[in-house]
Amino acid sequence: METPGNLFVVAAPSGAGKSSLVKALLELDSHLAVSVSHTTRAPRGQEQDGREYHFISNAQFDAMIEHGDFFEWAEVHGNRYGTSRNAIETRLQAGEDVVLEIDYQGALQIKQLFAHAVLIFILPPSWEELRQRLQRRGEDQPDVIAQRMVNARHEVAQARHFDYVIINALFETALFDLKTVVHSQRLKYASQQRSKSQVFAALDLI
Ligand code: GDP
Ligand code: ADP
Ligand code: 5GP
Repeated sequence: METPGNLFVVAAPSGAGKSSLVKALLELDSHLAVSVSHTTRAPRGQEQDGREYHFISNAQFDAMIEHGDFFEWAEVHGNRYGTSRNAIETRLQAGEDVVLEIDYQGALQIKQLFAHAVLIFILPPSWEELRQRLQRRGEDQPDVIAQRMVNARHEVAQARHFDYVIINALFETALFDLKTVVHSQRLKYASQQRSKSQVFAALDLI
């Protein structure tokens, strides 16, 4: 599907810093909006319905699949997560940029639907650092953290299918890298032609 807006997909093993990086990016970049996913996972402490996720039941999730409401969905760490058409379609068609924070299975599905999607994988600097971040975050029980560490091995092996890899050792450096990827995408010919159509027209390039 071709859309005027750019689509960025960010994936990472749990605890690598994906949500923190995307949140910081959004604060710096008013042309970018994050898609709010639907999930069957229970909300964590500070999470609010409609902000981090739309929290729904298994039955509601089944109904949305049935109605074809999702661009993609996947089972991750024992819960289901999905990107709804509503979350991104209107915005992309209006020429605005969207970022998806989703797992690698969803990212690869999105690439099939949107060939121009830019896939970005965030790596932690080491396994030990990943474990410490999950523990320090203090949001998940030890058994959940253990499961996420096991799943992380398989997830990290999928990074090779992505367009860009960012290692989140120093947060500010990783944020700079993420901004650079977004910025480069916007400078591509097709993207410039869409967003700077008046200049292109004035130069007889359209
Ligand atoms: P986190 O890993 O600590 O960010 O924990 P979350 O519970 O927020 O996310 C769980 C997993 O689901 C992560 O791998 C997310 O990237 C993934 N995820 C979140 N939203 C979506 C989505 O809409 N679609 C897909 N396919 N995956 C998602
Ligand atoms: P994800 O969304 O990938 O699961 P989070 O953004 O929740 O990860 O980050 C996991 C934890 O690691 C959070 O407590 C966050 O504050 C911390 N964190 C993120 N990036 C860094 C970094 N570069 N150095 C140290 N801690 C970090
Ligand atoms: P958490 O439960 O820690 O919020 O998220 C766990 C994983 O699910 C993360 O890797 C997150 O990116 C992924 N995830 C969140 N929303 C979606 C979604 O809509 N689709 C897919 N495929 N994965 C998602």
